[in-house]
Amino acid sequence: MPSKLRGNIRVFCRCRPPTNKELQEHAEQSTVCVTFPEENIVDVYNDRGRNKTWEFDKVFGCDVDQSAIYEEVSPLVTSCLDGYQVCIFAYGQTGTGKTFTMTGPPSNRGVNTRALEELFRLSHARASEVRDDISVSILEIYNETIQDLLSTANANKKLEVRQSEHGNYVPDLTVVPVTMIEDVLSLMELGDANRSSACTNMNEHSSRSHLMISVQVTSTNVHTGAVTRGKLHLIDLAGSERLSKSGATGQALKEAQNINKSLSALGDVIAARASKQNHVPYRNSTLTYLLQDSLAADSKTLMFVCISPVIYNAEETFCSLNFASRVR
Ligand code: ADP
Ligand code: MG
Repeated sequence: MPSKLRGNIRVFCRCRPPTNKELQEHAEQSTVCVTFPEENIVDVYNDRGRNKTWEFDKVFGCDVDQSAIYEEVSPLVTSCLDGYQVCIFAYGQTGTGKTFTMTGPPSNRGVNTRALEELFRLSHARASEVRDDISVSILEIYNETIQDLLSTANANKKLEVRQSEHGNYVPDLTVVPVTMIEDVLSLMELGDANRSSACTNMNEHSSRSHLMISVQVTSTNVHTGAVTRGKLHLIDLAGSERLSKSGATGQALKEAQNINKSLSALGDVIAARASKQNHVPYRNSTLTYLLQDSLAADSKTLMFVCISPVIYNAEETFCSLNFASRVR
């Protein structure tokens, strides 16, 4: 059944399976506390006996595979080719499946590869009617600063967001024209390599930065010359876990504050749009400012809120689901 249409903002909840480690190490804490009583309802209880339900556009239990998830995303690829600006976010605590959902392991690819494969397939299929010029950039936002992941030449340059008639953009960012999926796959590999070579602990780093793959599609009707411009942004967000009470200091504190700032700015922007407020606070973070036009009223936004199934993580799960239900 198609998801209930709720304007252009959709929120899907995805719960990952319990890991072996959870099952072994936290015997009493590894109780599964997440259930899906209905197609769009998730129910969670915590170890203090608190219990709460949330409603989303769809909810996916841990047995739902990558292709079934992608089926729900697929219409947004068509929208991009129709000239819409589309953002797909993965939000959630570190270790809940954001990267699994967006990137996925090589043998079981996630949304990113599947969306790009379909984009090229549809574009090639309509080539006699429409010429699509497609280009890709890959960046990360760490401590509110943009890093170009397709060029090491930009490593020490401060990249700023500027406004233009086609939306906000980053002047010096590498933007690569692509004509087939293989082009994008090798850019993704390059992005990965540049990202990991710049840091000592990739897991830690990826949990503290936002990774964004942006695809621009300029479509020209070969008969009329009419031009539309679609965009597809695929964003694996920094981990949403709250700063531990143990008192982080220095760099760790700064990182946590910046993550907090950009995730709450994102929540504020989408919530303001969902409730049709006049003032939408795009400028409060690099992420929302960069995505300003792609988060505007006529764009399409999908957020996956990724959660852990076990009671050990229930407090974070409550926070993530509260955040996600606020934006729809
Ligand atoms: P995050 O990016 O949110 O930190 P990951 O995507 O790295 O989390 O997922 C954490 C672990 O859980 C990984 O080992 C990943 O393979 C596994 N995992 C996440 N989601 C699923 C899923 N739906 N099915 C199977 N394994 C999953
Ligand atoms: Mg990750």
